[in-house]
Amino acid sequence: MPTHPQTRVFLVAVLAGALGAACSKSEAPNAPPAAAAAEPAAAAATAVALPAPSVPLSSMPKLDPAVILQHVKVLSSDKLQGRAPGGVGEDLTVGYLETQFKDLGLKPGNPDGSYVQRVPLVGITGAQAKPLTFTKGSQKLTLNWKDDVVAWSKHVADTASITRSDVIFVGYGVEAPEYGWDDFKDVDVKGKTIVVLINDPPIPDPADPSKLDPKMFGGKAMTYYGRWTYKFEEAARKGAAAVFIVHEEIPAAYPFSVVQGNLGEKFDTIAADKNMSRASIEGWMTVDAARRLLTMAGQDFDTLKRQALDKGFKAVPLGVQASMALTNKVRTINSRNVVARLEGSDPALKDEYVVYTAHWDHLGVGEPVNGDTIYNGARDNAAGVAVMLEVARQFTKVQPPPKRSILFTMVTAEEQGLLGSQYYSVTPLYPLAKTLADINVDSPNVFAPSKDVTVIGKGASDLDDYLQQAAQEQGRTLRPDPQPEKGYYYRSDHFNFAKQGVPALYIESGIEAAGDKPADYLKKKLDDYEAHDYHAPSDVVKPDWDLAGAAQDGQLVFAVGYRVANADRFPEWKPGNEFKAKRDAMLKK
Ligand SMILES: [Zn+2]
Repeated sequence: MPTHPQTRVFLVAVLAGALGAACSKSEAPNAPPAAAAAEPAAAAATAVALPAPSVPLSSMPKLDPAVILQHVKVLSSDKLQGRAPGGVGEDLTVGYLETQFKDLGLKPGNPDGSYVQRVPLVGITGAQAKPLTFTKGSQKLTLNWKDDVVAWSKHVADTASITRSDVIFVGYGVEAPEYGWDDFKDVDVKGKTIVVLINDPPIPDPADPSKLDPKMFGGKAMTYYGRWTYKFEEAARKGAAAVFIVHEEIPAAYPFSVVQGNLGEKFDTIAADKNMSRASIEGWMTVDAARRLLTMAGQDFDTLKRQALDKGFKAVPLGVQASMALTNKVRTINSRNVVARLEGSDPALKDEYVVYTAHWDHLGVGEPVNGDTIYNGARDNAAGVAVMLEVARQFTKVQPPPKRSILFTMVTAEEQGLLGSQYYSVTPLYPLAKTLADINVDSPNVFAPSKDVTVIGKGASDLDDYLQQAAQEQGRTLRPDPQPEKGYYYRSDHFNFAKQGVPALYIESGIEAAGDKPADYLKKKLDDYEAHDYHAPSDVVKPDWDLAGAAQDGQLVFAVGYRVANADRFPEWKPGNEFKAKRDAMLKK
């Protein structure tokens, strides 16, 4: 049906995907790709030697590929209508998960005695009421909506505006203690409008200026400081009234049209303050518009941009004032995370948690492709949820049972921007200071068993050491993220835990098929999925799927979580990691 109520949700999801999922592929530093993936230098040097596991992998109960497949078939069936948040698809999905958890004998994950955590979501469609205008004395510069500037407000309110707000150029807008970097220094931007560059500061390597310095902002790899979401969050932390990112095609690596395409309804979680702690107005302007603004301010864009590469750079007040007004159309959706708890066996440790996440949602019903309107999301992420359910089942059997508690969290609205996990991470059911780790499964390997497994952000935390140990027991190898410049670590639900300081693990399919398949079979399958089935109605269970791969990777995350739950110490971020300071502060180290 062309007027299906989910169509709108879906269209937005696709647009959001352009900036959320797909676009981050292109948010690359402007450095040529190197042949080998760079790993954080600190990682290798500081790996903790883990004791031999008291329960070897071979003695742990085994995930059953047939059980995983059965769950995938149910969750990706047309009956569940693509599992969009807020509709009948959600009701059926949540019902199925609750039943499964109860049947496994798991306790309600919410201390209120239920298996759900309510997640209030808001959809905001913004429109321009008054254009963005810069004034300096008698000079005036008005930017054209959409052609020059794209903006929105995350405030849950009918209007948002700035009036004669002082404009400050803040370079890359980064405050990164681990690199001794602070673009703001003592410049107060509270209530002001900030203009910020996209991506990490690309610092040349003093030893070879043709390369990026591996000791600064991950070198070739992207750190979170480079992401556009960070720029908006940092603006909010500093109390800015408005923030505009300067869009440049090379460092952003996608055209302004992608940003313009993101002007539809935007989804977000609703914080207690109705998102008023965000800047009133967030947006992007073209580099051409930024040049005109800086010229009006008597500055030169290229000069300031060059200066922003220096540690000593200090934000520059432009002597210009900005005004703009937006109107918001607001609607709310009440969605749910589904949560179940396996209570730890040690009375002294059972208040501490290992959290597992997998997003249950997908894109719902939308634009037909080859006559099919249901976006079944069989691999993305019915398969991840299925693996989680099977991990949960094995957790109820493993001997001895885990000392700490395990929380299985099936989160909503990942496709709208990791919203269910975001909500959990800022409104946790159990304190994050007592949460040892998050382990996430999204779009697992459904094609074939493999000799390797890919670790996104390899070397980030001690969890990788646990993973390495378990993979070795399987006779398999860890493969680092082949494209660290694409920032995949910031693109699934574990990231919201990382951002709050909780060590988080995210693995993806390996590429080297094992068993009777040719070695390049898996790589071909993954490429084919990416090209044809990713976020398409054709993401369905295929006859040639082999869930032995998902079971094998699920066995790894099972072992990692089990061992962390029994360990003598909390896993930590590796030195130099961008989330370490937050964790240390939380644990008062
Ligand atoms: Zn997806």
